[in-house]
Amino acid sequence: MRRAGRLALALLLAACQSAAPSPPTVPTATPPPVSVPAATATAPPATPTIERASPTVAPAPATPTPLAAASSPLSRPAYALTATVDTVAHTIAVTAVVTFVPPDSAQAFFNFNPLQAAALAQPLTVQVNGRPATPALDGVWVSVPFPAGLPPDAPVRVAFTYALRLAAVNPNAWGWRGTLGWTDRQLNLGDWYPALAPYTAAGWLTPPPTALGEYAATPYSDFTVRIAAAGLDAAPFVLGSGSPQPCAPDWCFILTGGRFVAYVVSSVMQTATVQTTTGVTVTSVYLPEHAAAAQAALRAAAAALETYTDLFGPYPFSQFVQVEGDFYDGMEYSGLSYVGAGYYAEYDGTPRNLLTLISAHEVAHQWWYNQVGNDQAHAPWLDEALCTYAEPLFLARRYPEAVDWWWRFRVDAYAPRGAVDSTIYDHGDFRGYVDAVYLRGAQMLRAMHTALGDARFVAFLRAYAAAQAGQLATAADFWAAYAAAGGDPAAVQAAYFAAP
Ligand SMILES: [Zn+2]
Repeated sequence: MRRAGRLALALLLAACQSAAPSPPTVPTATPPPVSVPAATATAPPATPTIERASPTVAPAPATPTPLAAASSPLSRPAYALTATVDTVAHTIAVTAVVTFVPPDSAQAFFNFNPLQAAALAQPLTVQVNGRPATPALDGVWVSVPFPAGLPPDAPVRVAFTYALRLAAVNPNAWGWRGTLGWTDRQLNLGDWYPALAPYTAAGWLTPPPTALGEYAATPYSDFTVRIAAAGLDAAPFVLGSGSPQPCAPDWCFILTGGRFVAYVVSSVMQTATVQTTTGVTVTSVYLPEHAAAAQAALRAAAAALETYTDLFGPYPFSQFVQVEGDFYDGMEYSGLSYVGAGYYAEYDGTPRNLLTLISAHEVAHQWWYNQVGNDQAHAPWLDEALCTYAEPLFLARRYPEAVDWWWRFRVDAYAPRGAVDSTIYDHGDFRGYVDAVYLRGAQMLRAMHTALGDARFVAFLRAYAAAQAGQLATAADFWAAYAAAGGDPAAVQAAYFAAP
């Protein structure tokens, strides 16, 4: 959609920020007719309801044969995901097998975010080591009980089977509320399978979602994915997280070491590919009317991958996919980012625009979110402040004349206030959350950069990334790395944190 005032609205945005001035997509208790959007811009806010599938619902299409699992030492969870996507009925039948050494002998928790955006078209069934188990749903969290007598330290295999009826993406959807659903031209598979919750010193980490920000973290994991795309559309293709594997007529991918895998299914979007100087194949998937902007976004993403590899350390994959999302804003996944179509439409041919900035911001999440994970509900600054500050770091090395503009345009114009260490539950409105976590976060990192000087600041970020790769980093980890680099955490916290 195009409308006056769009640019002014876009200027308010920060990447991968899910808050919206309009209501989020609202799953309905009854699967909606596929031709009718599930929600409109004027729909009142409502509490999403979880649909319990009826046994009378017609069975979803059979799932394809699982791809042979990638070898894994099981030092981390391994996912074998299969999906059959019907691009006409907008259903997806899923088998998700998660193999891991359980940290808790009684049960495990999984994030089942699909319930926020889609309806169950076939009940969720669960097996543990081949035997039926009875899951318990609590909001978007599923707990799976383990049978007594599991051998300690032995891997457990939890298999989920279900089907989803996807909803039309709300034209006003933002962030992850647009990444599971369909539009006329794309079907997005983000947050489409159960993701193992982290287990921390405080137990299972199962924060509730809110209207603001992302909330779910997951351990670093390995993935094998097989997707069959069926329907009346001409030859839909599937692109997304991981290295493509030959399995025609299906679409297969392996991703070793990541957080969440996501895919786009389309028969009308176009693609362009470049190689970075660091050997990464970067693919842009874009809407046909935005070919020129897509080239610019692709160049920005590739340049950002190169720049951040130089600054932060290696990028762990051979592929990166940038998807033009038929919704607002951007969203990060492992080896993939969505960048909203509005940014493409408003591309002005210069680096001084949000298409360039959001492209770079989302790429930075491949370090701060994918490699170095964090508790996104309670410490969102650990990835969002770093990814926001990655924007001027990128500009400084590629378009240094644009750095001053960036601070005026992106930060100073909002005179941001608020505590950088805010949680997603601390703010009632989008602006306050972004100002505190993203913009004050960028100001905090600039102060740290100034205090350390360029060489020591970059060394600090590299050391922090290397030490925390594959982990869920905490604020304590971040400050320990800063102190080791010669910084004074207490001075920074006193200026920028509510709770030093
Ligand atoms: Zn972000």
